[in-house]
Amino acid sequence: MTTVFTFPNTNTVDEQTETEKLQQLEEMTVHVSETQEKLLAEILRRNAMTEYLKAHKMNGATGSKTFKQQVPMVTYEDLKPYINRIADGDRSAILTGVPISELHISTGTSSGENKLIPFNDEMARCRLLFFSFVMPVFNKNVASVAKGKALYFLFVKGETKTAGGIKTIGGMTSFLKSEYSRLQSSKFSSPFSSNTGPTAAILCPDTFQSMYAQMLCGLYHRLDVLRLGSIFASVVVRAIRFLQLHWHELAHDIATGTLNHAIVTDPSVRESISCVMTRPKPDLARFITEQCSSGEWAGIIRKIWPNTRFIDAIVTGSMSQYINMLEYYGDGLPLASTLYVSSECCMGINLRPLAPPSEVSYLLLPNVAYFEFLPVGDEQGLVDMAHVELGKEYELVITNFAGLYRYRLGDVLRVAGFYKKAPLFQFARRSGAVLSVDVEKTDEAMLQRAVDRAAYEAMPESGTGIAEFAGSVDTGTVPGHYVVYVELMAKRGVAAEVMGVFCRVMEKALMTENWYYKEGREASCSIGPLEIRVVRCGTFEKMAERAIARGAAIGQYKVPRCIKLKSDLEMLDSMVVASHFSSS
Ligand code: AMP
Repeated sequence: MTTVFTFPNTNTVDEQTETEKLQQLEEMTVHVSETQEKLLAEILRRNAMTEYLKAHKMNGATGSKTFKQQVPMVTYEDLKPYINRIADGDRSAILTGVPISELHISTGTSSGENKLIPFNDEMARCRLLFFSFVMPVFNKNVASVAKGKALYFLFVKGETKTAGGIKTIGGMTSFLKSEYSRLQSSKFSSPFSSNTGPTAAILCPDTFQSMYAQMLCGLYHRLDVLRLGSIFASVVVRAIRFLQLHWHELAHDIATGTLNHAIVTDPSVRESISCVMTRPKPDLARFITEQCSSGEWAGIIRKIWPNTRFIDAIVTGSMSQYINMLEYYGDGLPLASTLYVSSECCMGINLRPLAPPSEVSYLLLPNVAYFEFLPVGDEQGLVDMAHVELGKEYELVITNFAGLYRYRLGDVLRVAGFYKKAPLFQFARRSGAVLSVDVEKTDEAMLQRAVDRAAYEAMPESGTGIAEFAGSVDTGTVPGHYVVYVELMAKRGVAAEVMGVFCRVMEKALMTENWYYKEGREASCSIGPLEIRVVRCGTFEKMAERAIARGAAIGQYKVPRCIKLKSDLEMLDSMVVASHFSSS
């Protein structure tokens, strides 16, 4: 057997050819257990002297059997005291041998609270290793896509320091700051290589200026763009909304070959754009004006970037609500949901990037972290990667190089199939993100399906529908009831009768999804009628801005589907323009 796990260093990542990468991938998927065992042994060897592993009496052991016997499964709350000590400046080997250099701000997708996730140089190498596998898989599936340019909307967020002097930073920001520039010329191509956005524009912490500059360069290079996207689908939708709002200024700049002083003030961004905007392009400006002034946004991506082969962005999990909009803007362009990533670890790659969203599954790379799987509803039945069963749902538990040992990530995955001996996982939902008034539990996936169903029946015309939504429970009434805040795509709103239908269909869908909800509504009357609160246009943008102000990065931000933060609820309530109760 070839060595399937070797600790990555920058050189090996850079030097392997695409064919070698694909070969390595094949080998890992055949030798899943061996790769995982070797990787775990490496993690444990490198961290044997840590307070954490010593406290759990690992005594230098590196085998998975001892590891599972000695080290407990934990949640973020369990690790928080250790992470707080690191944040406060304790430099001893608490969780890792290699010091924690950064704390990554996870957007905490369940309820809107941020978490701080340790990160060190060894994780940086794993992250690079992970991204080095993505384009070989793409190129294998979509011929010569790497030859053209990418229009990837990417954003960084400012960083801060903890009281103890550790950098706190978004995971994506950390990656872009340390690697983006190098990846433009690196030997291996990554999803971020050959991007139309100049480095200074991508690294500009002012989101507005950054977006403007990235859009401008994307328009200049419109015919070279072969793939358009971002990490998450929400960002692509935001980018198109930005174009809708600002095409006028963009077209003006393109026509005159000058950059609007009032919009882009950052000197390094201005300089980077001047290399792209070398002369006025009145024809291009006219074309953009024609496309954008018509008010017809269906298929706008195909029209402006006609050589785009697919839209590359995560459209699974909470991002699935953007599928309709991307299909509308892309007029049938395939959606490639390529990555499964988190602040804790870059984990999964979709081996069939052009598979339709409902069929997307991810291979968890066995050489980036040690994975265990907790069957949903069976706290004792933890299994490793080689022993998961087709069709079953598991919560993902990870052990990484940066001090997470048997850490419950909070994502629930479903085994959708196998590639060689490696399982392929569909993202099912976040665990813990549930609404509950009585004994029933409605998770975010159920909520999403009910909203989709209601939008489909109540607002069938394209371009209408739900732009954003989030659920909560109101226990101030007796009985308590579900409240779903919705922001509509149609800025002028929709008729009350339409919302009445929406409310009724949604409640019916919730009852079909969840027997206990039906019981609570119809038999025991322990749950009151569903309430839809329509919020003003821009409300969810405001909520995102507030999360970003609390430390979340725009490129990573996901709307929490089940709102639990009191301040978010208060803000949403202050923006309500109409409320509808189900008549079911
Ligand atoms: P963050 O740590 O803020 O970047 O958020 C990471 C979380 O985003 C993951 O734990 C998932 O819940 C979600 N996520 C990331 N990638 C995907 C994906 N491909 N499909 C669905 N959800 C995803």
